[in-house]
Amino acid sequence: MAFIVAIDGPAGTGKGTVTKIIAKDLGLVDIDTGAMYRCVALYSLRNQINLGNSEEIEKMFENIKIDLQKENDILKVYLNDEDVSSIIRTPEIDKQTTIVGPIQLIRRKMVDLMREAAKGKNVIMEGRDIGTAVFPNADVKIYLDAEAEERARRRYKENCQKHIDCTYEKVLEDMINRDKTDLTKGGLRRAEDAVLVDSTNLTIEEVVEEIEKIIKEKM
Ligand code: C5P
Repeated sequence: MAFIVAIDGPAGTGKGTVTKIIAKDLGLVDIDTGAMYRCVALYSLRNQINLGNSEEIEKMFENIKIDLQKENDILKVYLNDEDVSSIIRTPEIDKQTTIVGPIQLIRRKMVDLMREAAKGKNVIMEGRDIGTAVFPNADVKIYLDAEAEERARRRYKENCQKHIDCTYEKVLEDMINRDKTDLTKGGLRRAEDAVLVDSTNLTIEEVVEEIEKIIKEKM
């Protein structure tokens, strides 16, 4: 039986970073489900998919192939064999993802894709609803949270490093709006049996240490 670690939580908690480190330390395959949603957002935007039409959505999924690959320890995201790793992290795609994410048909299709991506592997999967909708029987469930202001500070710093034009105030505003959508329509929910880790005042190393301790107890 494959071993599954589910890490859920809002944007900017450090999920992506800690997941990568833990995967490497413990020999698990890491799956960034946000990147998968971002691919669908990009495809729908480029192809002007009518998201109110379920037939168009069904057809879109027939035409989408997403590959997550590790190259020199860096996650490369391929959408129909095109490297979209950078383009899916822009504010424009952030926004489009909050439009596609709440659509229930899309969420159902994504659950299938995520289960397929994890098949037969020992994985650490990060997202919003991994411990609730995708793998309700995951071996370990973590809910990683942090205060919105701290999460916005982290995302603002990241954007500056990538030379993305923005202000802290705008990042915070976007973050609060994204939280609202994630919580109301996007499926972000803490599983009852998930361990809560608050990263507001913790370093990445401290978060990694705390989560690895929890995982090792179950391995
Ligand atoms: O984690 P990341 O910020 O890359 O996720 C992008 C967006 O995809 C989130 O804002 C959320 O709306 C959506 N998402 C989701 N369910 C997941 C992962 C991401 O709805 N499992």
